[in-house]
Amino acid sequence: MFQNAACNWRCWYCFVPFNLLRADPGRSEWVSAEDLVEKYLALPKRPAILDLSGGQPDLVPEWAVWTLRALIDRGVDTTTFLWSDDNLSNDYLFRYLSNDDIELLAHHPAYGRVGCLKGFDRDSFAFNTAAAPVLFERQLELVNRLVERFPNLYLYVTLTAPEIPRDADATLIRLLSTLADINAGLPARTVPLQVTTFTPTLPRMRPEHRAALKVQTEMVYRWNSLLPQFADVPTQGSA
Ligand code: SF4
Repeated sequence: MFQNAACNWRCWYCFVPFNLLRADPGRSEWVSAEDLVEKYLALPKRPAILDLSGGQPDLVPEWAVWTLRALIDRGVDTTTFLWSDDNLSNDYLFRYLSNDDIELLAHHPAYGRVGCLKGFDRDSFAFNTAAAPVLFERQLELVNRLVERFPNLYLYVTLTAPEIPRDADATLIRLLSTLADINAGLPARTVPLQVTTFTPTLPRMRPEHRAALKVQTEMVYRWNSLLPQFADVPTQGSA
């Protein structure tokens, strides 16, 4: 895993220390995608998956394209799978990459991407990210745009909030319906992430964040109960 040392959000549960998210030249290094691929190839037991993470990798959307090209140039794109994360906060991929670049990512069998939904509604999104609540809808708009080019897009969702909403099932059904409307298989490709504590998160956690760790258990239970109502979910016992 390589990390872009910058992010435009500050999620309370982020396991990256915040001082590693501000593009600090004292805590990061300018490197080319080719250099990173060289470092990866030099590993004696290199993993089969190379993950471009962060921070927010899509602040530099060319990173995934240049890395994939480097893997192709070195002839290892048949043995390495390239994976990139996206916090679904910007449209730089569409704004700054050429159509050919996007096509390369969209159609190469060795590349996949995942977007991270930072909550289940506006309030939980704002609680989790400290960003403006309206950006929750923007996350879904970006999912819609991405799925047009990346039909096999995966999603994570963090179901954390300070308390269980009174209309919890209706809220989750609204989100699952929106995802199913975008793409019938999307609810089944959305994975609730378990938020847990890490050394960097402990000092920044307040009582409402500790409460959110318990809330997520209930919300994931409800999510999993509702999920079979949505299309393209394998039934129990099926392959
Ligand atoms: S979007 Fe991701 S990298 Fe950025 S603060 Fe949130 S969890 Fe951390």
